[in-house]
Amino acid sequence: MSIIIEANDSSLKSWINIPDQSDFPIQNIPFGILRHPEFGAVAATRIGDTVIDLCSLARNHYLKDTGADPEVFHRPVLNDFISLGQPVWRAVRNRLSWLFRHDNPALRDNLLLIREAMFDVRDVEMLMPVKVGDYTDFYSSLEHATNVGIMFRDAVNPLLPNWRHIPVGYHGRSSSIVVSGNSIHRPKGQTRGDKDESPVFGPSRQVDFELEMAFITGKQTKLGDSVSVIDAEDHIFGLVLFNDLSARDIQRWEYVPLGPFLAKNFGSVISPWVVTLDALEPFRTVGPVQDPHPLPYLQFEGKKSYDINLEVALIPDGAEEITISRSNFRYMYWNMAQQLAHQTVNGCNINVGDLYGSGTISGPLPESYGSMLELAWKGTKPLRMTDGTERVFINDNDTIILRGFAIKDGIRIGFGEAVTKILPAK
Ligand code: MN
Repeated sequence: MSIIIEANDSSLKSWINIPDQSDFPIQNIPFGILRHPEFGAVAATRIGDTVIDLCSLARNHYLKDTGADPEVFHRPVLNDFISLGQPVWRAVRNRLSWLFRHDNPALRDNLLLIREAMFDVRDVEMLMPVKVGDYTDFYSSLEHATNVGIMFRDAVNPLLPNWRHIPVGYHGRSSSIVVSGNSIHRPKGQTRGDKDESPVFGPSRQVDFELEMAFITGKQTKLGDSVSVIDAEDHIFGLVLFNDLSARDIQRWEYVPLGPFLAKNFGSVISPWVVTLDALEPFRTVGPVQDPHPLPYLQFEGKKSYDINLEVALIPDGAEEITISRSNFRYMYWNMAQQLAHQTVNGCNINVGDLYGSGTISGPLPESYGSMLELAWKGTKPLRMTDGTERVFINDNDTIILRGFAIKDGIRIGFGEAVTKILPAK
């Protein structure tokens, strides 16, 4: 089954200039929250390097009959807009696509409004796009789970017996999820070296990034109800890049028996633009073969994976950037529909604005691994930086940048960046 989404028409061009290799052609139309110089936080979209205030557009009647009241765009987060439902997101996205197409003068010739509602991306600050209520982090990359199993537990049987049957995950903490551009202090905590008898307290010496994507739910369910694999994608508003910072030394000492805790909640960083699942429709692809067959409630038909190129870059303080990993969202063993079906199979209810991390996305090749732990293989294979220094984990004042984009038939739909700098421990 495939649906026609007008805004995805690959022949569309915009009257806004779009730089080569931009993540934001007129076919993207993502949603975010802009700090407007006069109006405070407003909903926004982006075309090329232009950020567009949707509140001003709506107040001037350019979004009428889409089902969205103008005031829903004058909120500190997108949750109320998302709550209006999939038909409204689609109508607004289609309207924006129509307003900005090259041959439509309706908004193009309204110079007064353009001055008030359109900004260069370099001149504005983007804010956290959603209020995240609940946050789940999955562990859905076979390669990542295998690599971590080899390093942390058992090289002969790196996968636990449940892994190929359950989309393994844990409930994380939403308070420490921040938008790109925020710096994070190195965490302090308890660690114990493999040969030490007692733990010590101090700054983590193994701060790591995790290359992840996260989906944001757009539809509430009632406690007791489940979402089927077939319906799951109708509950997803869109995706962001997600850097789930981790402290490996704290993690290793604390994670048995109840799983990740303080090693994972000192800061996680998302990209500011939520790219809708609608915009990613052309990039559906098949995922890895699942062997053995999952239980019936996790079985699916068709293409439920998405071909999204992912990159990680590291910038040592004062030095040039270097790309240290290239992976792809399609490497995920469990897809988003299976994750959401599993999350709700017991009757757990979900809300608009919940965030679901994919888990670290490692590919089959060493250069596609999605964490320093794997790239430098537990400290045994240091990475050389542009300034000649080496890294096995993240140093103070290093900046980590995640990037992601899908590309097909000349159309590139991207996510921009999730950027964060690691500061010394407080
Ligand atoms: Mn994670």
